[in-house]
Amino acid sequence: MREVMTVAGPIRPDQMGLTLTHEHVLVDFIGADKISPDRYDADDAFNRILPHLQRVKDLGCDTFVECTPSFLGKDVRLLQRLSDTTGLHIITNVGYYGAAQDKFLPQHACEDSPEQLADRWTREWESGIDGTRVRPGFIKIGVDLTALSAVDKKLVLAAAITHKRTGLTIMSHTAAAIPAMAQIEILLDQGVHPEAWIWTHAHREKDNDLHERAARQGAWIAFDGLDRSELERDLAHLRQMKERGCLQRVHLSHDAGWYEPGEAEGGIYRPHDDLFTDVIPELKQAGFSDEEIHRMTVENPADAFTIAVRLC
Ligand SMILES: [Zn+2]
Repeated sequence: MREVMTVAGPIRPDQMGLTLTHEHVLVDFIGADKISPDRYDADDAFNRILPHLQRVKDLGCDTFVECTPSFLGKDVRLLQRLSDTTGLHIITNVGYYGAAQDKFLPQHACEDSPEQLADRWTREWESGIDGTRVRPGFIKIGVDLTALSAVDKKLVLAAAITHKRTGLTIMSHTAAAIPAMAQIEILLDQGVHPEAWIWTHAHREKDNDLHERAARQGAWIAFDGLDRSELERDLAHLRQMKERGCLQRVHLSHDAGWYEPGEAEGGIYRPHDDLFTDVIPELKQAGFSDEEIHRMTVENPADAFTIAVRLC
């Protein structure tokens, strides 16, 4: 059976419904050497986050993909509790974030081989995360801004190996086209189809020719910085993708949130609402059909997060 893995267990892809593909409920930027769940009160975090998730559920969101990786505050017990309380399907991840001068990488990421990293990640898929039965629904990695560092390349290789073993799709924090294309090359070299790879934060690349090139190779192109204050930027990207016949590869989300340990009351939480309150109405105004909007918000996420080994 084709399935998608949520924090509450597997569901069918057609149960995902409207999906926000890149959001966060909690992120801690203290660094991999100091990170600990003791840095916040789980009840306080839960109470601060809950109304935001209830609100998106009320607005029509069915599935919420939580993209905080290990060593940046991923807390699967918190996610389970939020999912139980709201009824949202929540998807979590396995993998490491190699952007930001490697501040969020554990020491072993530098020492391990790609296979050893893939072994760690595969164990989380098989046995659960942080001593729970919660299993990841995708692989989350992050790479540097302008070019892949040696450790970035290792993370991509480890993700490719893990994908071939588990069928989990790879989502990579990738700001620009040069590191995007470099990752696609590594995947192809490993025999992994670019359909197994999500270019997350693709809106940070201005050149739509490069989005189109990656989309035609099969990659998912995530315009996941949606923000009512950036509507023109996002609409311009989406009009271009439509004109180029590439909407069948597009994801939409906000990269919003989150409770931040160390900040007073968890800091300022940006809601996950703008898709519903601003972006979808604007897309309709701009002539996007209900089918096109459904494609980007329902069908494309269901395809992307279906667990399947995708080889080329
Ligand atoms: Zn993010």
